[in-house]
Amino acid sequence: MLPEKMIELGTARSVIRELFEFGKKRAAEVGAENVFDFSIGNPSVPPPEKVNEIAIDILKNQDPVLIHGYTSAQGDAGVRQMIAESLNRRFGGNYDKDDLYMSTGAAAALTCCFHGLCCEGDEVIVFAPYFPEYKVFIEKAGAKMVLIPAEIEGFQIDFDAFGKALSPKTKAVLINTPNNPTGVVYSKETIKKLAQMLRDKSEEYGNPIYLISDEPYREIVYDGAQTPWVPKYYDNTIVCYSFSKSLSMPGGRIGYILVCPTVEDNKTVYAAIAGAGRSLGYVNAPALFQYIAAKCCEETSDLSIYERNRRLLLDSLREMGFHCVEPKGTFYLFPRCLEEDAMAFSERAKEFDLLLVPGDGFGCPGHFRLAYCVPTERIERALPAFKKLAESYKK
Ligand code: PLP
Repeated sequence: MLPEKMIELGTARSVIRELFEFGKKRAAEVGAENVFDFSIGNPSVPPPEKVNEIAIDILKNQDPVLIHGYTSAQGDAGVRQMIAESLNRRFGGNYDKDDLYMSTGAAAALTCCFHGLCCEGDEVIVFAPYFPEYKVFIEKAGAKMVLIPAEIEGFQIDFDAFGKALSPKTKAVLINTPNNPTGVVYSKETIKKLAQMLRDKSEEYGNPIYLISDEPYREIVYDGAQTPWVPKYYDNTIVCYSFSKSLSMPGGRIGYILVCPTVEDNKTVYAAIAGAGRSLGYVNAPALFQYIAAKCCEETSDLSIYERNRRLLLDSLREMGFHCVEPKGTFYLFPRCLEEDAMAFSERAKEFDLLLVPGDGFGCPGHFRLAYCVPTERIERALPAFKKLAESYKK
């Protein structure tokens, strides 16, 4: 017998995957240039040149045994030191290499945190809309995901619902800002209020509630927006970071976990997270990409391309009558559908060869996600299709 749950995870096609298959089929029928795929969050802008320069330099000039070898389980000490120093420069912390654990992207960072922090039956609070893999990761760690419905006016936090969901079983609260799928950045006020509620409840229950901050889009912000540095507002913060989006290298599988020195019992928490990494078989994050990330950790890909796409889509869709909360970051928009049923809306969009992801999978029906990490000319060519889609609802 094989575990049913794993078979299900390995065979069930996600909605995004379905759209991808549909796109391939339609491309064969009408030509790839006439299919407008906005489904996948794969960065379309190349990594900054420095990434390749550093990679070539490392490959040419450094000891191949070292660069292709194992590193310490928690990551190369020099790499962690460089990243800690960068964080101190940028956010004014007092971080050290021993607060950092290099991970195989944010996905592994999150799974290590959930496995390292949660005991069977613990709860992790997540805010809708959310990255759907969270549920898979949390449940695999034996914990329960408690979902707070979306606050659809601004996609900040519904604090009433959040207050009611907190309980002595709450081990951690997970936030993602800038957010996939809304693109919204939590304001300082939101973070401050969240932090105060967590402090109050931790004291009441006599246990720390950890705040896990999933930040793969931290630097991808527009119009001068800034992502608040969460550890500044809450001591028991664990940051999960990834270079997948900021450096456009999701295939490199590199990120890190920062267990802030202010976290209660931080050494034990760090040990538990490292133990989780070991038990999950991560061994160490990819060595070559650790060395690259350390030297490029203050770089980003050319964000002006995303910025241009964002403005073009947002202005055009609003003009057509779509309601969309202004996203200040990421490369996603999350407008309201033109009917209640997002699945039906996405189906109708397919008639115009628009591939749009219904919000249901993100825990927020009635909306759809547009990933605008695509060539700008795809957006320009897609606008008449969006117009036809909008007009089809006026008839
Ligand atoms: N968290 C969020 C919110 C994401 O959008 C993604 C990827 O799209 C991840 C985590 C996982 O990213 P990584 O490639 O670093 O594993």
